Amino acid sequence: VTQAHLDRIGQVDDFVHAFLHVDAEGALAAAKAVDEAPERASALAGVPLALKDVLTTKDMPTTVGSKTLEGWIPPYDATVTRRLREAGVPILGKTNMDEFAMGSSTENSAYGPTHNPWDHARIPGGSGGGSAASLAAFEAPLAIGTDTGGSIRQPGAVTGTVGVKPTYGGVSRYGLVAFSSSLDQAGPCARTVLDAALLHEVIAGYDPLDSTSIDAPVPPVVAAAREGLHGDLKGVKVGVVREFSGDGYQAGVQRSFEAAVDQLRALGAEVVEVSCPHFVYALPAYYLIAPSECSSNLARFDAMRYGLRVADDGTHSAEEVMSLTREAGFGPEVKRRIMLGTYALSSGYYDAYYGSAQKVRTLITRDFDAAFERVDVLVSPTTPTTAFKIGERVDDPMAMYLADLCTIPANLAGNAAMSVPSGLSDEDGLPVGLQIMAPALADDRLYRVGAAYE
Ligand code: GLN
Repeated sequence: VTQAHLDRIGQVDDFVHAFLHVDAEGALAAAKAVDEAPERASALAGVPLALKDVLTTKDMPTTVGSKTLEGWIPPYDATVTRRLREAGVPILGKTNMDEFAMGSSTENSAYGPTHNPWDHARIPGGSGGGSAASLAAFEAPLAIGTDTGGSIRQPGAVTGTVGVKPTYGGVSRYGLVAFSSSLDQAGPCARTVLDAALLHEVIAGYDPLDSTSIDAPVPPVVAAAREGLHGDLKGVKVGVVREFSGDGYQAGVQRSFEAAVDQLRALGAEVVEVSCPHFVYALPAYYLIAPSECSSNLARFDAMRYGLRVADDGTHSAEEVMSLTREAGFGPEVKRRIMLGTYALSSGYYDAYYGSAQKVRTLITRDFDAAFERVDVLVSPTTPTTAFKIGERVDDPMAMYLADLCTIPANLAGNAAMSVPSGLSDEDGLPVGLQIMAPALADDRLYRVGAAYE
């Protein structure tokens, strides 16, 4: 199976460019170890996987899509990586991504864009476009992504694959190169909800190496997916988020969503409309909080500790080396975020910007709490549009940011959320995603509803 996927990568990855690095030798060795000791096999032993290049791997480079870390081989495995290896999952390689996971199209990668297998002229979403494209192009049956504002779910939606952002703290962040630590969460990507559930159980669970890891049992997601496959949602209450419709939503996406809601009703779910009035402020709050945390986290790339160091022949102070290196190593979006975040955190502006954004975050969490008193899950389109053309939004950061309009609230509140394929848009024939959101630690509800729906 591993060899077949390596062959497929050889055939199509020149066109898709999902991978930044392929480790045929390592993947085949892991597969062979499973063949030789089948008695130790887990449910996913021997099922190969594509790993987003934001998680550390001690035998492969970890670039985070940045020139800053080009060629850097970490001295340790992320907890997610380690758990995959322990489960006998061969790691095919590392997937392309927007630099430091900042973006919605994978065009911010320093190593060139990934192409959407449904239409090569279009983006595969981002930041985890490589992981999603590898699934859609059948280069891998499983992948790992990370989701700070939508980077698992939005690529899932626009490539017709399943992507799950687990409850914050449900999957260890140890070895996940930090973008915005209070939002970052690794999660499973797959072509079916049950596959995602099997992967979820491999990577989730308490980790003392991550201080925000939750010390609680992993929600029973595999059992929930199997239950969902019976196609019966009687007794499940579904809330349609009123705020996520109208202007800015493509008609084809809107119609697909309405059909999805009808389908949930046909499966026996009770559907009601729910208002979450503060969700419309999620995007602006996110674009203060995430850049603020980014400006702090990326201070570690100082030309002393990791990767790139730029200095010409002249004599330079440490400060000059640092600034030359950061100038050369970071792309425009990363610089924009560092500047935004530094500004928002600076004295005199902190309360007005960062402080206000944190208050909005609390209001969004309260909207979720109120909604989940009435319903079991909330649904919305995953993203307002289908995959846009490569190059279409590169000069317009605001248009790019809007791709995550519907996904960001779950990150701000720390909830669990999934994107499940919802057919093709009747407007342009491209994949559409249905987003399902559940309370923190109720990830199993996503899998039950998602599996019944898919
Ligand atoms: N597109 C969002 C951003 O640019 C989300 C990225 C992510 O989830 N890593 O920040």
